[in-house]
Amino acid sequence: MKSVWLLLVLVAAVKAERTFVGDQVFRIHLQSQEQLRVLQSLEHEEEWQLDFWLHPVSTDLPVDIRVPSSSLSSMKEFLLTHNIPFTIIIENLQELIDMEKTEMEESQKMEKSTRSFNFGAYHTLETIYSWMDTLVAQYPHLVTKQEIGKSYENRPMYVLKFSTGGTNRPAIWIDTGIHSREWVSPATGLWTANKIVSDFGSDASLTSLLNTMDIYMLILANPDGYVYTHTNNRMWRKTRSLNSGSSCRGVDPNRNWDAGFGGPGASTSPCSDSYHGPFAHSEIEVKNVVDLIKSHGNFKSFISVHAYSQLLMYPYGYTCTDVADKAELDSLGRAAASRNSLSNGTLYNPASGGSIDWSYDTGIKYSFAFELRDTGYYGFLLPSNQIIPTATETWLALKHIMEYVRDHPY
Ligand SMILES: [Zn+2]
Repeated sequence: MKSVWLLLVLVAAVKAERTFVGDQVFRIHLQSQEQLRVLQSLEHEEEWQLDFWLHPVSTDLPVDIRVPSSSLSSMKEFLLTHNIPFTIIIENLQELIDMEKTEMEESQKMEKSTRSFNFGAYHTLETIYSWMDTLVAQYPHLVTKQEIGKSYENRPMYVLKFSTGGTNRPAIWIDTGIHSREWVSPATGLWTANKIVSDFGSDASLTSLLNTMDIYMLILANPDGYVYTHTNNRMWRKTRSLNSGSSCRGVDPNRNWDAGFGGPGASTSPCSDSYHGPFAHSEIEVKNVVDLIKSHGNFKSFISVHAYSQLLMYPYGYTCTDVADKAELDSLGRAAASRNSLSNGTLYNPASGGSIDWSYDTGIKYSFAFELRDTGYYGFLLPSNQIIPTATETWLALKHIMEYVRDHPY
């Protein structure tokens, strides 16, 4: 009997999946600069283990914070003391996580029995990688799979290249899943890849685009983090690299690019979810993309897809200085955003070391970042029945940008 117990304890220790029982997500609409300052000071508070889903950046945008169950009373008292009203948008985070897991398992069973791929479901890395092979096998004259390098934990990183031929044609870059907990981002990437192959040949505009340009898609830009969100911690955002001198792991891969590196909106603390890392491009996942983009040398558009808050953003995030192409990017961004439910068009989002600032500085004029659904009912736990609607609306904006890039060579 004793040995059975020992075995159970060992299994539990190895799995150690983190739970979020009783954790709540607070939403705060800031009413003054003073409240903004108070909330910003909370970001450096470490004892309560607050997890900022939406950071306090301006009084125009809501702030969402996951409050661990152990900190609920302290946090409520703090907000009351400072006269800051809040609502609770998620009552018990674990319930949503459990629901998501059940849905995933049900979908997996269905996929097995029908031998089909369900784009309206979330998938593991293994399933996504094997789906890529199926796609390449089905459309060998349109899609190829390229390994751009390995992740920190030695997983291959694959880019899908959509091309009808030519050499080194002007190209469009799309990456999804750089922040691992933003599951709707890679799910949208999969749907989009499938949309491209389905519409090629029948959609005249997309066909003409692919007759002159290539599209590159990196569906899992942070594979280690993505696996970790499935096995250990659904709320994991960063890479999984070891940080010397700290027991906290990982770097925020969207604060790690060589663009205002270490500036505002990034943290110097390895335990922070916004930790920028020891130096620019320290993360191999970032470095692999940088190397590919540079060696290719002919990318005309760089699009990075995140969740959530339904925004479309253009550079710069690291400085208030306007980019030289601001007027053009602003009007293109607004036109693209008006094609779906991206509410705000474009917005200054103070965060240094972001990928689209780097790509713009590298000479890729049409650099954009998407924030997909929702606006704060489920946050990162967007129910899978919203994947296809999200991807469908995102496609309208994406396609608008791609067509514009095709029609405005530079
Ligand atoms: Zn993100």
